[in-house]
Amino acid sequence: MAEIDFKFGTLIRTGPKLKYGGKWDADLVDWKTDATTNAFLTIFIRIWFVKIDPAAATGSYGDSDDTPTNPSKKPIQKWKPGEFERFVRNMTSGAQAFWDGQFWLKTPKSYNGLNYVSPHRHTYRCNIYCKFDLKAANSAADAHYTIAVVRAQDGVNFRSNAVLYSQNDIKSEQMIPHSTVKFWTHYHEVGHLIGLGHVGTGGVTNVHNDNSPTAYGVTAQEMNDVMGRGHSRHDWHATPWREAAEAFTGVKASDWAVFQRHIPPERV
Ligand SMILES: [Zn+2]
Repeated sequence: MAEIDFKFGTLIRTGPKLKYGGKWDADLVDWKTDATTNAFLTIFIRIWFVKIDPAAATGSYGDSDDTPTNPSKKPIQKWKPGEFERFVRNMTSGAQAFWDGQFWLKTPKSYNGLNYVSPHRHTYRCNIYCKFDLKAANSAADAHYTIAVVRAQDGVNFRSNAVLYSQNDIKSEQMIPHSTVKFWTHYHEVGHLIGLGHVGTGGVTNVHNDNSPTAYGVTAQEMNDVMGRGHSRHDWHATPWREAAEAFTGVKASDWAVFQRHIPPERV
């Protein structure tokens, strides 16, 4: 029977606890590698969703623009039976599918820690496949994030943020003037949760509340970015996986070249 050597294991992301992002667990699985199978680096996020119901059938709730000096209360209503549970399922499965398995990191030639040696003594340098696992938590204590979700009344424009959603955030919107490119709030907000900032702020610094006119992008390519006002994925979105790869291997994040296509293990 083959012994399984758990060389890597779970990384609990350390550093400042960011209210708006960058908090997750990760693990690097290298014991399934072979001549054609890369290592898997999975980022795990668990969210505790809090269902917000008004005391009566309808009520009001402050949206993302709500401040003591500038109140922004929007009409909400009680969730219909099953509606909240359906929202949670669609939100987690949709955002997971958007971010899961989209990026590959090429192992630099200087690193042999992910090498696979075949029974014929051939050595393969395995790369890293970037996986994402997003699920609803069973309690706040179990979760990386707590997100409140309101049922806005139909037709109401409820402005969300990373910790406050409405039922409309899993529907597509069109946010770029004179363009048909669509935007899905949950793809974007989960991008913040894995640690990404807005495209126009250099991306890697997570300045969630930067709503400067350029934060969501200036050029068409930037605006089309999921961390702008669109839904395109770009290499820079692999930053959280590159940072995790550095934590696991000691190889600098910037030394892991990003691919948006499968790159097989390389015979050394
Ligand atoms: Zn944002």
